[in-house]
Amino acid sequence: MSAPSRLKELRDQIDPINLQILELLNKRATIAREIGQVLQQVGTRFYDPQREAEMLTALQMANEGPFSNEAINKIFSEIFHATLNLEERDARQTILVQRKQPDQHTIIEFRNGLRLGNDSFEIIAGPCAVESYEQMDRVGAVLAERGVKMIRGMGYKPRTSPYDFQGMGEEGLKIARQVANKYGLAVISEVLDMSLIPMMDEYVDAFWVGARNMQNSFLLRALGKQSKPVLLKRGFGATLKEFIYAAEYIMASGNQQVILMERGIRTFSEWTRNTLDISAVPLLKQETHLPIIVDISHSAGRRDIANPLGRVARVSGADGLMVEVHPNPDVAMSDAKQQLNLEQFNQLMDDIESVSDRYQQPAE
Ligand code: PEP
Ligand code: MN
Repeated sequence: MSAPSRLKELRDQIDPINLQILELLNKRATIAREIGQVLQQVGTRFYDPQREAEMLTALQMANEGPFSNEAINKIFSEIFHATLNLEERDARQTILVQRKQPDQHTIIEFRNGLRLGNDSFEIIAGPCAVESYEQMDRVGAVLAERGVKMIRGMGYKPRTSPYDFQGMGEEGLKIARQVANKYGLAVISEVLDMSLIPMMDEYVDAFWVGARNMQNSFLLRALGKQSKPVLLKRGFGATLKEFIYAAEYIMASGNQQVILMERGIRTFSEWTRNTLDISAVPLLKQETHLPIIVDISHSAGRRDIANPLGRVARVSGADGLMVEVHPNPDVAMSDAKQQLNLEQFNQLMDDIESVSDRYQQPAE
């Protein structure tokens, strides 16, 4: 037989074998998926190095060549890896925060017309803490003038030292509500403890969970029972996986209106308070359907780079940014170094408005 016809004959034998291997691989994947479901039910992780090692040893014992054991190891390790990816992808599909289709976006609407999510870039602003009616009124007036629709109305402050200003409490919330009503703003305020929820519910349009409480599952569950939206800040030492699972606590308890906020993570940086993890924005956009807001104040801890960070937030694909604004930051009771004065806030707004392109997530 001539070489070309022999080659054809041999190749004709290979093709159906490829198809058989393909069929077997997919049969294996189907069973592995079921194993993944069982593991998920019992709460065991998918990656099991001991089981992989056992399978590889069994294959080596059975291997009669011509493939070397090393080659067999490589091929099967690749199969194990693909299987693990499949199991993990399946698991993510079952969580509520995960975006299931490219065009799935949660949009959160407020009574004053504010819409957070996907179609616009919104600003949340206000002082670190409510300090007086006059302070809130001056900020509220400027926000309304610039078309901002949500004010920070912080009555309770999580401070490093118990001797520092802890917030005005309910008195502060009353002021925030009054000012918000005067200027048509929505009020958002940090809830430090679940016992405060019923009282705060009288004053706020949305609840805020600070970085220190991101993994307080009791608080998250309690907020999951509320009908108002919840803004969840990323913990300064939290991975994105931990962050989205914290959001999952709220959603799994019944409240689907969750807003995520990237606020910077703790690194070795000396020149900023935290390090703004801007990559969190596209990643969270890719993985979840929730609105994501960038905190340009606590991430940097300094006002002099607020404008460039604001511009970066705008093009990152985020649904908005949060900035601290105070009529006289130098005498602020907390976070004096990072709050913008009213003029600086106006400049920030001009700057952001000059950035015309907000990054849009491409359809898959
Ligand atoms: C805040 O934004 O008011 C705040 C206290 O920030 P964080 O929880 O991110 O430290
Ligand atoms: Mn602050």
